[in-house]
Amino acid sequence: MKIKKISVYQKDLPLSEPYWLSGGRLKFEVLDATFVKIETDSGHIGWGEGTPWGNTYVPAHGPGIRAGIETIASVLIGMDSRQNERIEYVMDKELPGHPYVKSPIDMACLDIAGQAAGLSLPDLLGGRYETGTRIMSSVSSGPPDYMMEIIEKYRKMGYCGHSVKVGGSDIELDIRRIRHIEENRLEGERILYDVNRAWTRREASIVMNAVSDLGVTFEQPCETTDDIKAVRAVTTSPISVDESLVSLNDMVRIAHEGIADVAGIKINRVGGLTKAKRIRDVAIAHGIQIYVMATGGSVLADAEAASLAQTIPDEFRLGCWACQDMLTVDVAPGRGPRSQHGELRIPDLPGLGFSPDESLLGKPVAVYAA
Ligand code: MG
Repeated sequence: MKIKKISVYQKDLPLSEPYWLSGGRLKFEVLDATFVKIETDSGHIGWGEGTPWGNTYVPAHGPGIRAGIETIASVLIGMDSRQNERIEYVMDKELPGHPYVKSPIDMACLDIAGQAAGLSLPDLLGGRYETGTRIMSSVSSGPPDYMMEIIEKYRKMGYCGHSVKVGGSDIELDIRRIRHIEENRLEGERILYDVNRAWTRREASIVMNAVSDLGVTFEQPCETTDDIKAVRAVTTSPISVDESLVSLNDMVRIAHEGIADVAGIKINRVGGLTKAKRIRDVAIAHGIQIYVMATGGSVLADAEAASLAQTIPDEFRLGCWACQDMLTVDVAPGRGPRSQHGELRIPDLPGLGFSPDESLLGKPVAVYAA
C-alpha cells in the first residue's frame, strides 16, 4: 500500500451568510479548501481535507497548505500509507511546524489504513462509542437579539448546543449578550461562550467575574495560554482552550498546571488525527472534557472531527461542529455524516466511509507521482 500518487484540489467554499468573530474584529465570507487524494500501488484511494477558517483566525493559510504539500510530497511517495506515525515523523522532519499542511495528508492515509483493516476511522483511532456527538452551532457576534435569532434558527434544525462568539472592546455589551442568551437558554441546551482571544486580561477578568453567578464556560478568553493562566487565578468560570492548544506539549502543560477544564481539539490546527488522538488521551487522563472540531470545511472535515469525537467516552465528549451546514457548496452531496437531531454519527464503514464527488472538485491544481 505504497503511496504512488498525490493529487491536490482547491475549492472555494462560500458561507451562506457573512460571519463575524470577536465583536466584528474578524469577518469571513468564503473558505479556501484543499482536498487531497492519495492513491496507492494496491489500488486504495484515501481522501483528506484542509480548510482554514480564513487567514486571520489562527496561523494557517489556504495557499500555504498547497505550497507545503509541494515541499513534502516527494518524501511521501513510496511510503506505506498505513504507517501513519512514521509518515507523521517524516513530515515533521521535512517541514518542521506548519501542522495545518500535514493534516489532510494524515487524514487521507488513515482513510486508506481504515479501508485496508476493514475498520471505520473511530475504530481505527481506538474504538467507537455508539452514541452520536452533539453538534455545536457557531453563532456569529452581533447585538443580543440578532444572536438569539441565529440560535433560534439552529434550534429549528435540531441543534441543542451553541458556540456563541463574544469578545470585543465593548465589554458591557458582552455582559449584556451573555445574560440575554442565558435568560433565553432552554433546559439541557449547552452554550459555550467563545471569545476567540479577543479580550485583554483586564477585560476577561471583568466580564467573567460579572457573570460568575451563571456558571457558564468561556473558550479562549485571551491570546496566550499564559494570559489564560493569569485570568484563571482571578476568576471562577470554567475555561476551554482551543486556539492556543496546538501541540501535545501544550496539552500536557494545560493539564499539569490546571489552566483549563475543557480542551477544544481542532484537527487541522494540531496537525491531524494522529496528533489529535494523543491530545485526547492526555485530556481524558486528567479529567478534562473535550470538544473536537474542524477549523472549517466541508462534510469531509466534519467527518474527520466527528470520527475522533466518537472515540471519546460520553462523559468526556462535549461536542463537535457541522461546518457544512454553513456552506452554500457541497462537494459530497448525499454522502458522509450529516446533522440529524442535532448530532453527527459516524457510520460503521471502513475508513472515512465516503469520498467527495470528484466532478465537483474540478481538475487537480497539482499532481505528485512516482
Ligand atoms: Mg473556539
